[in-house]
Amino acid sequence: MLPTIFQEAIPLIKRIEEAGFQAYFVGGSVRDYLLGRPINDVDIATSAFPDEIKSIFPRTADIGIQHGTVLVIEPFGEYEITTFRTESEYRDFRRPDQVEFIRSLEGDLKRRDFTMNSLAMDADGVMYDPFQGQADIKQRIIRTVGAPSDRFSEDALRMLRGIRFVSQLGFDMEPATRNALKLNENLLTHIAVERKTMEFEKMMGGEYKDLAIHLLLQSCLFKQLPGLADKRNTMEKIADFPLLKCLSKDQTWLLLLACIEERPAEFLKEWKLPSKMIKERTKEKQILSIRTKEGWTKELLYQSGLQRANNVEKVYNCLHSISPSSIGKLKDEFESLPIKSREELNVTGRDLMQWTGRKGGPWIKEVLGNIEMAILHGEVRNEHEMIRRWIETCSPSEKN
Ligand code: ATP
Ligand code: MG
Repeated sequence: MLPTIFQEAIPLIKRIEEAGFQAYFVGGSVRDYLLGRPINDVDIATSAFPDEIKSIFPRTADIGIQHGTVLVIEPFGEYEITTFRTESEYRDFRRPDQVEFIRSLEGDLKRRDFTMNSLAMDADGVMYDPFQGQADIKQRIIRTVGAPSDRFSEDALRMLRGIRFVSQLGFDMEPATRNALKLNENLLTHIAVERKTMEFEKMMGGEYKDLAIHLLLQSCLFKQLPGLADKRNTMEKIADFPLLKCLSKDQTWLLLLACIEERPAEFLKEWKLPSKMIKERTKEKQILSIRTKEGWTKELLYQSGLQRANNVEKVYNCLHSISPSSIGKLKDEFESLPIKSREELNVTGRDLMQWTGRKGGPWIKEVLGNIEMAILHGEVRNEHEMIRRWIETCSPSEKN
C-alpha cells in the first residue's frame, strides 16, 4: 500500500483521469518513497492543460500558470498540479523563459534534471521509468537525464542541485556527470544568488555535507559561491571535521563563519540571506568567541538562551572534535539557572518607580539588569517581595 500522503491525493488523480487525461506522481516524492525517506509534499504532473485542470476542480489558484502549475485546493489539502511540458528556449544558461505544454509523459520526464528525479508513479503505484531512475537509485548514483554538459548548460543551477542531492542522500555522482561539473563550473556565474543560496542551504542541512564539499572543491564550483572563491583551504578544513555530520543547517553556517573569520554579517549578506538569520548567526558568532576564550559562565548562558547556546556548543565541539556529551551538561546547567529570561523577572520598571519614588529613565534598565544578575547568582530569590527588600537593604544606592 502507498504511504498516506499519496493515498490522500489519489482521488485527485482519479478525477483527472475520469475527465479523460493522464496524471501521475512525479519528482522528489517518488524518489523519496523508493528510498524510504520522509516525503515532504507530492507533486502531480498531468496531460491536462492548466485551463482544463481549472475546469475539473472547483477551487484553484494560479500560482505558476505560465509554467503550467495550478494549485488545487481541496478540503484535505492543497496540491500543485503541473501540465506536462518541454523547456525549449534556454537563454543565458538559466531556466527557460518559454515552456511548451505537451500531452506526453515521456517528454515531460525527459526535461527533468536527474534520472532519480525523472520517475512517474500512477495511482496504482506502477512506475514509469524511461531513464532507468530506479536502477540508479538502487546503485545510489546521481546521473543527468541525457548528456550532462548539455543539461548543465541549459540550466547551470542543476550542478548545484546535484551536489546538494549528494549531501542529502550520500549518493555518488556518476563519472561523466561529475566531469561535466568541472567543465561547466563557470556557467554558474549566470545564476541568481538567491537560487544558489536555496540549494546551498539544502546542502548544508544534508547528512553527507563532507562529500558535497569535496565535490564543490574537486569541480571548482566553490569559486562561483558568494564569499568562498578564495576559501579552498577553509573548505577543505571544514570537510574534514569528523563531527560535521552532526550539524544542522544553521550550525553549519555558524561553523563557516567561525572558520572564515572575516566580517560575518558582510559574508552572510553576500548570500542575500534574511536579515533575521544574519542577526542570529552574527550574535552566535560573538557568543562562540567568548565561549572559546572564557568557557560558559552563568551570565553567558543566560544572555545566550538555550537555543543559541546549543548551536554555539555544537559548533565548538565540532571545531575541537569533542564528543557531543557536553550538550546534555549545558542543557542541565541552563535548566538549573534560577531565571532563564528577562520575561521571568518578577519585578517591572513600574514597581521600581513606585518603590523608589523616582521618575522613569535609563536607570530602570540598569537596576533591572542588576536584579537579574543578583537572582542569577543566588543573592536574591525571584520573588516580588524579596526583590523589594533586596533593593532596600542590599542596594541602598539604587534607591536614589
Ligand atoms: P526536494 O525533496 O528537495 O523538494 P525535489 O527533487 O522534489 O527535491 P524540487 O526542486 O521540488 O526538487 O523539484 C521537483 C522536480 O522538478 C525535481 O524532482 C525534478 O524532476 C524537477 N526539477 C526541479 N528543478 C529542476 C531543474 N533545474 N532542471 C530540471 N528539472 C528540475
Ligand atoms: Mg520537491
